[in-house]
Amino acid sequence: MNDDLRIDRVETVVVDVPLRRPHRFARAAMDAQPVLYVFVRTSGGVTGTGEGVVPAGPWWGGESVETMQVIVERYVAPVLLGRRVDEVGPLMRDVTDVVAANLFAKAAVEVALHDAWARALGVPVHALLGGAVRTSVPVTWALGTEPAPVVVEEALAKLDAGLHGTFKLKMGALDPAVDVARVEAVADKLAGVAGVRVDLNARWDRLTALTHLPRLAEAGVEMVEQPVPGNEIEALAEINARLPIPVMADESLRTPTDALRLARLGAADVFAVKTTKCGGLRASLEIAAVGAAAGVPTHGATSIESPVGTAASLHFACAAPGATWGSELFGPLLMAEEMAVEPLRYADGHLHLPAGPGLGVELDPDKVRAFRRD
Ligand code: MN
Repeated sequence: MNDDLRIDRVETVVVDVPLRRPHRFARAAMDAQPVLYVFVRTSGGVTGTGEGVVPAGPWWGGESVETMQVIVERYVAPVLLGRRVDEVGPLMRDVTDVVAANLFAKAAVEVALHDAWARALGVPVHALLGGAVRTSVPVTWALGTEPAPVVVEEALAKLDAGLHGTFKLKMGALDPAVDVARVEAVADKLAGVAGVRVDLNARWDRLTALTHLPRLAEAGVEMVEQPVPGNEIEALAEINARLPIPVMADESLRTPTDALRLARLGAADVFAVKTTKCGGLRASLEIAAVGAAAGVPTHGATSIESPVGTAASLHFACAAPGATWGSELFGPLLMAEEMAVEPLRYADGHLHLPAGPGLGVELDPDKVRAFRRD
């Protein structure tokens, strides 16, 4: 056995990457995205990088870069040191014996292990996931909770530039009737030229959803994401049964067990899979496989990752046969600073798999130094 694969160092760095424009969710906004980089080094001198990232802060799922850094440094690193990077399954099992939940933190570690392992072998990460069934994925652009004229102007500029053909609007920050009228105005302006989807980020209750969502379907909205709280999957199933357009599960879906329950109840027509919220590449593949077996396609969703985490999600979305419902892997496009030496390639409305070993992304050390949090 080759001893070069032994893990001899685990390091973390928190950076705050400035955004091109503030990004608003129902209950949070950010003008810089906090990112935790996890570096796993082998005794052979190979370093793998993973990214721990949540949208803006702990409002989405309880984790933040600060909690992830403590979990990784204090509890996960001791499990990894001295073990082999190609033992990802047993390593993550042993990590879970020490850390019960914390899927975002685990994802950062699991991706770093894959990156180091693939680099040591000189192969791309998708090769370790069974190979690429596609080499690019379509990318939807996310619009914030601003008034209709503001988001329409932004969408039309993206359309004109040929960058994106579908748009996802964040909802849930306003009174429901006002919010619905706002989205109706946007859908009206974009009718026939671009697809419009909405994400409620779990902000409405069952009755509010049943009252207001049919109007959005009538207005031409093509998909509704997570209208009700994550644990209310019976309500999600009822909403899905009543709506003529697809419902996508996001906050309700973090594990393969969640995927099975959602599929059994018919609670979602599309699965939003984020490698971050699901604990990494392998669990994401498992969830996509459950979906595919149940006839539910997977969408490559985002926590607004920098190029490292975006590449990880891209390798997953290209390796998962069931990931046929496009992506929203636009993270690097929202960032005002390019964190990678070579930017990921966005062209023709798609994000394309990078060449090169591992994730195919090299972080720019000067940028990491410049935006590092003290
Ligand atoms: Mn979502």
